[in-house]
Amino acid sequence: MPVAELEALMMNLGEPRWRGRQLAEAMYCQRVTEMDAFTTLPKSVRGRLAESGWGVGRPEIVSVFKSADGTERYLVRGNDDQTVETVWMPEGDGGEAGDGSEVEVEGNSILPSSLLSEPVRKDGAPARIEDEAPTRVADRAPTRSWDRATICVSSQVGCAVNCRFCLTAKLGLQRNLTAGEIAGQVVAVLDRHGAEVGRDRVNLVFMGMGEPFLNYDHFMAAVRLLVEEVGISPLRMTVSTSGIVPGIERFAQEPDSVRPKLAISLNAPNDALREEVMPINRKWPIDAVVDAVRKVPLRPRERVTFEYVLLGGLTDRPEQAAEVAQLVRRAGLPAKVNLIAWNPGPGIEYFMPSFESVERFRCRLAGEGVPVFLRRPRGRDIYAACGQLKRTLKA
Ligand code: SF4
Repeated sequence: MPVAELEALMMNLGEPRWRGRQLAEAMYCQRVTEMDAFTTLPKSVRGRLAESGWGVGRPEIVSVFKSADGTERYLVRGNDDQTVETVWMPEGDGGEAGDGSEVEVEGNSILPSSLLSEPVRKDGAPARIEDEAPTRVADRAPTRSWDRATICVSSQVGCAVNCRFCLTAKLGLQRNLTAGEIAGQVVAVLDRHGAEVGRDRVNLVFMGMGEPFLNYDHFMAAVRLLVEEVGISPLRMTVSTSGIVPGIERFAQEPDSVRPKLAISLNAPNDALREEVMPINRKWPIDAVVDAVRKVPLRPRERVTFEYVLLGGLTDRPEQAAEVAQLVRRAGLPAKVNLIAWNPGPGIEYFMPSFESVERFRCRLAGEGVPVFLRRPRGRDIYAACGQLKRTLKA
């Protein structure tokens, strides 16, 4: 709940308005998880809150899948039995450092082939390493072994956009998440890892299940909670959209103080191919998306990211890299391109690009003067990587 609603709640109980701010402090800054821990609130008020059915809680992490690379994928239960996926990537994925200090390999340097040659299981089933009942954070915070981390957050249960390379698309749209469910994923994961906002470098990418701009109001309400109450800078957040033009136009109106950085999921060098891999392109073709992006007032040093999933034999040719470079130049925006070697999933008929084709594509883009980064594939063995999020239907 935003502070204004907490204040209204307190006033309805005959308490002064400032009690609402006190509640917000306890819930979002101190991250209190039980009504009894609200020690600044008189016991009688806590009692009345509980009697009226109010409670404090987090979305439950009902299952944990751990990758050999340290990535953790969570099945998170919201306000009903539906679950979404949230991913914890210690040391990030090279995509977004959030503070301008990206660690990706840029330019023409040669990448170790190990970045693209992580073993992928052939039987289609991710290794379920750990099933766990929800437990309090203090009981089970994992040993800390990270300097910075990225949390990939979901915004919807399933997705209606139907990108052909994406496992989440196979679920269709089940429902929108509420602001509390979106922000709650972040807080639940921060709690699990004992991460402290302000002390630890934790970045958020809204690139999990769903299209955030098709759940715009709840998504932005969650961002405001995370910025204004939890204390995470919007510069540490990136939202990715498949190119929902009305959403981008609304996003352009948001003040700098709460507006995350923007990434456009491009994935093809031209409209014809983009329509094939992302049917949404028929509604909002590339030029319309770029026109909308131009309306977003960027902060100093801020760049728009174009995400580009390389599909082996389809979108990974060097001449297509030249087309992408042309497109980026035509956009006339401070921009960079994040390359993602497509992550395989059961029932999707694309091919992984070869290491050589990824390298050729990257070098061609860099040679054309476009800042280009390769996102490290994280958690492929547990289906936590980009485009791989599709929860098991039964939690
Ligand atoms: S890539 Fe994103 S927008 Fe496209 S179907 Fe998957 S979750 Fe939806």
